[in-house]
Amino acid sequence: MTFLSIRHLSKSYDSHVALHDFSLELARGEFLSIVGESGSGKSTLLRMIAGLMTQSGGEVLLEEKLIENPSQKLLPGYDEIKLIHQDYQLFPNSTVEENISRPLLQYDAKYRAQRVNRLMSQLGLESYKDRLPRQLSGGQQQKVAIAQALAVEPEVLLLDEPFSHLDAIQKRKLIFELKELLKEMGTTVIFVTHDLDDALRLTDSLLILQKGKVVQKGNSKVLCEHPKSRYVARLFSPINQIPDRFNSYVRPSDVRLRTRGELIGHVVDLRYLVHYNSLLIRLRDGGHIWEVDDSMRRYQVGDRVYLHFDEEKVLVLKS
Ligand code: ADP
Ligand code: MG
Repeated sequence: MTFLSIRHLSKSYDSHVALHDFSLELARGEFLSIVGESGSGKSTLLRMIAGLMTQSGGEVLLEEKLIENPSQKLLPGYDEIKLIHQDYQLFPNSTVEENISRPLLQYDAKYRAQRVNRLMSQLGLESYKDRLPRQLSGGQQQKVAIAQALAVEPEVLLLDEPFSHLDAIQKRKLIFELKELLKEMGTTVIFVTHDLDDALRLTDSLLILQKGKVVQKGNSKVLCEHPKSRYVARLFSPINQIPDRFNSYVRPSDVRLRTRGELIGHVVDLRYLVHYNSLLIRLRDGGHIWEVDDSMRRYQVGDRVYLHFDEEKVLVLKS
């Protein structure tokens, strides 16, 4: 059953349309990642879902109840829907424990203490409870901001590129921990990011936004294997254009290297990556440069190679 329903939502700033006719239905507890480059309308969308920005058109409903925007509601925003962004604001002179308990000030003291302790334990913050924000690393500060948002047990959590300030290791760890916690709490989550890898760590369910429009939505495997455009295809990996075949491409991981065959080239560059060597190969005919994964690490710069690919791996992309 639909829990969060977004119907024909749009937003224009003066003459610029930041979000076009956006519709989406989410079930309770569902996770979705929205991937789009900077300026594609992600923050605009989340602010409207949270009731923090007035839309130009359309509506948002949570359990069939209309989410009112700031022009309709005296105190904008809802406890049921929390938005976390990268520039979270912790109270600098309050400890971790005090920061997390702030949204609960009007609750009973015993409940508040229980709730704060549980969140600190779930997010591994107990040993930092008496520290001030400036005495924490970026990852720990972001956890405190997340705990603060979760204090009131929101039903929907909107994450607006919340991991951008973290290094890769901190980020992976936090995404993993957060995923467990939010699944356990049954929270409905929309995670927006410009980074497909981060999105894939959190969820298989993806929506690709480009210039304020939905370009494709679906499971990550389907989007990777059947992208609707070159833009979507390139989010997953580079793509190599097949000579003399219009709009036809193949991914670096789908090219096989052989010692004989038809498509000939020379290795012009090699980079050592964790799971394979990434080769740049100049094709003899037409001079295209292809990127190819050499998983056996067999070839060197200067080697002549023959390239093969299965016809079923060819992506035909018209736009
Ligand atoms: P994203 O979060 O994907 O980077 P935004 O939602 O912030 O994208 O912005 C979408 C588009 O709307 C951009 O072109 C941006 O320049 C424009 N925009 C955002 N906020 C405003 C604003 N307050 N006034 C005018 N234009 C804005
Ligand atoms: Mg943004």
